[in-house]
Amino acid sequence: KPALTKIGAQMSNLTGVRAIMKDINETLRASKGKELYNLSAGNPLILPEVEKLWRDCTADLLASSEYGEVVCRYGSSQGYAPLIESIVKDFNQRYGLSLTDRNILITAGSQTIYFYAANAFGGYTQDGSLKEIVLPLSPDYTGYGGVCLYPEALIAYKPTLDIDTAAHRFKYRPDFNQLSITENTGCVIFSRPCNPTGNVLTNDEVNKITDLAAPYDVPVLIDSAYAPPFPALNFTEMTPMFGENILHCMSLSKAGLPGERIGVAIGDENLIQVLECFQTNVGIHSSRYGQAIAARAIESGTLANIAENVIRPFYQKKFDVLESTLEAAMPKNIPWFLHRGEGAIFGWLWLRDLPMTDWEFYQELKKVGVIVVPGSSFFPGLKEEWEHKHQCLRISLTGSDEEITIGMQRLAKVAEQVYQSA
Ligand code: PLP
Repeated sequence: KPALTKIGAQMSNLTGVRAIMKDINETLRASKGKELYNLSAGNPLILPEVEKLWRDCTADLLASSEYGEVVCRYGSSQGYAPLIESIVKDFNQRYGLSLTDRNILITAGSQTIYFYAANAFGGYTQDGSLKEIVLPLSPDYTGYGGVCLYPEALIAYKPTLDIDTAAHRFKYRPDFNQLSITENTGCVIFSRPCNPTGNVLTNDEVNKITDLAAPYDVPVLIDSAYAPPFPALNFTEMTPMFGENILHCMSLSKAGLPGERIGVAIGDENLIQVLECFQTNVGIHSSRYGQAIAARAIESGTLANIAENVIRPFYQKKFDVLESTLEAAMPKNIPWFLHRGEGAIFGWLWLRDLPMTDWEFYQELKKVGVIVVPGSSFFPGLKEEWEHKHQCLRISLTGSDEEITIGMQRLAKVAEQVYQSA
């Protein structure tokens, strides 16, 4: 085995949900013949209309004179010009902006934007002081846990909870009494809609965060992997937000193109340039084939159209199945709370006063053939202990209606037994 540096050792650890995925994959492999209701996946489903869109765009590219230029040559690190132009045009028209090509960067998936930003703006400055990467509302995307070369820089804040006891619903809110953004902050990151909770921060909440960051010129990265205009996985009204210190970050992964690794950052040209140079050093540029088909899907308006009319209703209906099954199946006397389903492709269930940890509950569910993801892996950067961290589960909406229904009915039975025997 080679000797590893501190960073080498850290980067060869599986963090957050990847560690659990290993356990899940082993469970799936060992389950031969046994029926399993797997509600753990973060991988979007292949919807026929979406696959057709990408197939059609590919056919168009193959038939065009552009093909050789796209796949047989290197391109600019900023991204493939026709894709950048299609985004500038679409966003200016759709949101009344005045973007130019200098405001756009195409990356190899949006995960890399967070990696570049976390290390360009967070970590140690030349004079040795630590710039923090602030996650204003924990839980949030587990992938933020692995993006910092200096993990001590990642700081997440506990939220406040709006609880509707009678309805068995709740919603997280940023805790503005605690949230601190100062000259020691390097950047701020949050997902909207949020993976894992489905929360959508309100415009007011986003404005408060960006206002706190503005005096220190701190970039605020709004991870819009599930936001409109594509994949449009918002089930509540929301408008993307732009502004001087906002980096609006998008992904084509949930719009059917995770394999091609296309992320988009939109923002001030000074911020974009920093990230572009980082990308040149890390990986030169994203797949040009992916960028060329994305340009076609955006330019024609088909992507936004399919997102709104196919992708969003598909997952919204799944959330309805999850919600109605839990309502019918969960025992009334158990303090269960489903997070308001405002977007993304997950349900987030909080079992208050759960008499065991989320990990133990996950093991109990496995015994009855149901797999969900224990919630504690979704609190990257949260330093303090909080019992709530061990009381939540992420339930994927990528299951069939039957899988979600049976999975939740079994979960309700297990919950009943677990609370009763306590
Ligand atoms: N951000 C969020 C909130 C996600 O859920 C994901 C993927 O699951 C990503 C970022 C990373 O997406 P990609 O790198 O494929 O664009």
